Amino acid sequence: MIENLGTTGLIFNEPLLWERGAEGRIGFSLPRRDVEEFPIDSALVGDVPELPELSEVDVVRHYTRLSQWNFGVDSSLYPLGSCTMKYNPKVHERLAGLRGFAGAHPLLPPELCQGALALLHDLESYLAEITGMDATSLQPAAGAHGELTGLLVIRSYLKGRGEGRSKILVPDTAHGTNPASAALCGLEPIVVSSNERGILSPSDVAAVMDADVAGIMVTNPNTLGLFEEDLKAIAELVHAKGGQVYCDGANLNAVMGIVQMGTLGVDVMHLNLHKTFSTPHGGGGPGSGPICVKRHLEPFLPVPRIVKDEAGNYALAFDRPASVGKIHAFCGNFGVMVRAYSYIRSLGPEDLKKASQLAVLNANYLREKLKGVFHLAYDRPCMHECVFTDEGLADHGVTTLDVAKRLMDYGFHPPTIYFPLVVHGALMIEPTETESLETIDQFIAACRAIAEEARTDPQRLRDAPAKTKLGRLDETSAARNPCLKG
Ligand SMILES: *Cc1c(COP(=O)(O)O)cnc(C)c1O
Repeated sequence: MIENLGTTGLIFNEPLLWERGAEGRIGFSLPRRDVEEFPIDSALVGDVPELPELSEVDVVRHYTRLSQWNFGVDSSLYPLGSCTMKYNPKVHERLAGLRGFAGAHPLLPPELCQGALALLHDLESYLAEITGMDATSLQPAAGAHGELTGLLVIRSYLKGRGEGRSKILVPDTAHGTNPASAALCGLEPIVVSSNERGILSPSDVAAVMDADVAGIMVTNPNTLGLFEEDLKAIAELVHAKGGQVYCDGANLNAVMGIVQMGTLGVDVMHLNLHKTFSTPHGGGGPGSGPICVKRHLEPFLPVPRIVKDEAGNYALAFDRPASVGKIHAFCGNFGVMVRAYSYIRSLGPEDLKKASQLAVLNANYLREKLKGVFHLAYDRPCMHECVFTDEGLADHGVTTLDVAKRLMDYGFHPPTIYFPLVVHGALMIEPTETESLETIDQFIAACRAIAEEARTDPQRLRDAPAKTKLGRLDETSAARNPCLKG
């Protein structure tokens, strides 16, 4: 079966794990029991599941092979725009794994987990400082969850003023979670078009801002990788009509230590700790989407609040009558917060700023170098990511999807494609600050080679990827009839 060796040097058509093994083969050796056996009622134990019997080496090879068929940020460049797939230093994993943190039971009484509470309390204040806001709740488990929580806070605040506004303004460049969160919160999203510069115009916002609009959700920098330069003016006119300003802070990686959104009139914003603050993500692992708010919204934050008394003791406060309630078990996904705390503490203010500066520099370098290779959606300096279109590719019968698939043959994860929706055939590239000049140059060289292939050998792109374990999938069928065993 040597001819079936794949790119990873592994044999492809081996039997599946559960088709292998033999009766009586054992793959584990436990330390000798040092506690007395506790008899368990056999009715509670039930039938033993039918699992294959395998040796340790079978199991190790199986999982090692699976890990090699996968692609991660630890494999190569992963320039998935809007997702900030940067390298996450391993030291933060080690700290999150410290026994005192990883082993702390969420039901420990506060007096037995003062250290964990101190970490959460400090992290809240760091995030408030970075965003220029007054208070933070770490409870939401993801960006979308933060959006929902933030909008619930806004709705409760407006209700407290006796107002039942039913609409919210959302730019046409917004991430899909924005209108979805609004709808889930009972607010009708009203789309505001971005202008010819790819950002919001105050006049367009003014035209639709009325007394039935609860506020606006603005992503800054937006998903075109452009800074919303008129956010302050927009916030003023939304406030003048009694609305609140929500900022989607998923793209904070471009502005850490540079712009405090609170100074631009933002009332509430969420951050994605799993994008900006060193938690590996993708594949649906635990995330964290804290929200930071201005003082007038603090009473509405989820409970429990982490409070510190004058003697320096930490406690969990549940008695907050105006709170939107609980939105996550306990205090949220604690392990993600330890990583974020450790990331912020190890970088410090100067290096957080530098990380953002490098993220922006890398994106602009890439944009300049690829300018003539692909068509730029907006030909102006960008923030942390840049967006190209499929203009010119269609002449060769090639699509954005073909380019993305071909990049896999060159060893790179494809960028985000067909988003944002306002750009035709979008290719949205976010190199992040953790990539070296050499890696970015290799990516640029791959893009150039692919653009050349589009002209000379377009079929090659349409057939891509050719070097991965699986070729191009029928994604529609895969989504409708997922085969989870293969
Ligand atoms: C990733 C992202 C979100 C959603 O965050 P999740 O953690 O995936 O729920 C929202 N807005 C923008 C701009 C994003 O990039």
